[in-house]
Amino acid sequence: MKGKEQLNFIEQIIENDLKNEHNKDELCFRFPPEPNGFLHIGHVKAISLNFSLGKKYNAPVNLRFDDTNPVKENYEYVSAIKKDILWLGYKWKNECFASDYFEKLYEWALGLIKNSKAYIDSQDSNKIAQQKGTTTLAGTNSPYRNRPIKENLKIFQEMKEGKHPEGSHVLRAKIDMNSPNLLMRDPVLYRVLFKEHHRTKKTWCIYPLYDWAHGESDYIEKITHSLCTLEFKPHRELYNWFLNELPALKHKKPKQIEFARLNMSFTVTSKRKLSELVKENHVSGWDDPRMPTISGLRRRGYPPEALINFVKKAGISKRENTIDFSLLEFYVREALNKTAPRVMAVLNPVKLIITNYPTNKEEYLEAENNPENKSQGIRKIRFSKSILIEKEDFQEAFSEKFFRLSIGKEVRLKNAYIIKANSLKKDKSGSITEIYCSYDPQSKSGSGTVQSKRKVKGTIHWVSEKYCFDIEVNLYDRLFNTEAPDRNKDRVFTQFINKESFVKINAKAEESLVSAKEGDIFQFQRIGYFAVDKESRKEKIIFNKTVGLRDNWTKKKKEFKKLR
Ligand code: ATP
Ligand code: MG
Repeated sequence: MKGKEQLNFIEQIIENDLKNEHNKDELCFRFPPEPNGFLHIGHVKAISLNFSLGKKYNAPVNLRFDDTNPVKENYEYVSAIKKDILWLGYKWKNECFASDYFEKLYEWALGLIKNSKAYIDSQDSNKIAQQKGTTTLAGTNSPYRNRPIKENLKIFQEMKEGKHPEGSHVLRAKIDMNSPNLLMRDPVLYRVLFKEHHRTKKTWCIYPLYDWAHGESDYIEKITHSLCTLEFKPHRELYNWFLNELPALKHKKPKQIEFARLNMSFTVTSKRKLSELVKENHVSGWDDPRMPTISGLRRRGYPPEALINFVKKAGISKRENTIDFSLLEFYVREALNKTAPRVMAVLNPVKLIITNYPTNKEEYLEAENNPENKSQGIRKIRFSKSILIEKEDFQEAFSEKFFRLSIGKEVRLKNAYIIKANSLKKDKSGSITEIYCSYDPQSKSGSGTVQSKRKVKGTIHWVSEKYCFDIEVNLYDRLFNTEAPDRNKDRVFTQFINKESFVKINAKAEESLVSAKEGDIFQFQRIGYFAVDKESRKEKIIFNKTVGLRDNWTKKKKEFKKLR
């Protein structure tokens, strides 16, 4: 039975916590990206989850950059991440950086050493890894495990002062080398890294590891519910261990809750893999319109509400699943159908001459900009004797099944007249170069008073030969030619790149499009949605194909229901 709002499992936990341990005004959430790449569609799920909870409970949501690894992180990523979140329509309360807490974390690490809960290990990383053991084999204590506190403090201080080379020492928590959870086997907290940080510059040459920095950052920011993906589940024990070892807590501890990642078919959602695509030049950049990054999807013409509706439909659960790419396309069409103005463009033109139309005549026809949204009004398009239509919309031989133009058959020219094809001309190779038609002067369509009621089965789009102009169109297809490119044991994911995923063509557009600018999205009637690319110039407007008009999601819907 529906009716009452259904709570997801995280909301249920929060509701319960509100009854037992938290006041409503204590609630605080965060989205914690590592600035080592651009955000992707998977992150939209985490972003939407946290910010929706913030909205629902009127609680702050922090944007926290988990910037503890200067080797991979940089400021370009920080800016890109902020831009993407704002574009999705979300606003964070505080912009935080784990690097702002380096001093505090260092101080707390000293506390651990003083309490004999951490020690300096002077073995190299291979040796430490060897002693870690396995799930079936207990670990081995490091020979440095019982190093005197004083000596630990001295070396740690020297590490901070840059007196020890990389790899010479690490600080490890002293937990349990026999723990069934490998993460609890004396995890490393700090390593020496002579690498300039994008914010702290050269202040630090020791850097905290994720597990040590994350929960403590949550605590400093008074986060109540720290939401992360399922792979962090085994980290929860360590997360809690660290929090319990902190000096007397002044406020409540954050709670880590894990949810399932969003996986999407025909793509990869891992920053490491996306970064590989960029570095190895498989794509033109993080914002290549085939990338599942927010910036790529934006450049492709996907509107923010489509991304959000998609991740909401995918839902919050504890079980991993893969959502079909075509569901995302469904939401893109749904959003653009309401907003995108209709225009005409011909991708693969052939000339058509209307023999009974007066040679020097030109007239303005009225075309509706968006039948789904009358407030977008009408525009005027010039019509004359010579026009261009799609080659595919003409077939020489008459056939009952072909509803477009063929010899002896009538179709309506969109926003214009009904025409009938009578003859054609071919070049030496046999390709059609011109189609000759006659038109019915009484059949004018449009929103004027002389609107014709006469109906024919087919309608085709066209552009005026004289007034159309050249555009460039980037046609895109799935970046990978298999549903799960990164789940094949024998082949690396880049081997599944769809070589035909990008094709550039020249096309013709109606004159109203000359003023189109970056980010504008149109429906090219009967073809699909197209977004003006950032590389457009005044002399050459470039359109990215966002998505076709046809919805092949509907037939997948049943499958999707089964999945959920
Ligand atoms: P990746 O594996 O792509 O590198 P990540 O987890 O390392 O992702 P972070 O920048 O650390 O990337 O992620 C920030 C937040 O987004 C984390 O809380 C993480 O759990 C969440 N997140 C990352 N990928 C997904 C996904 N596919 N679905 C849902 N949430 C995700
Ligand atoms: Mg991560």
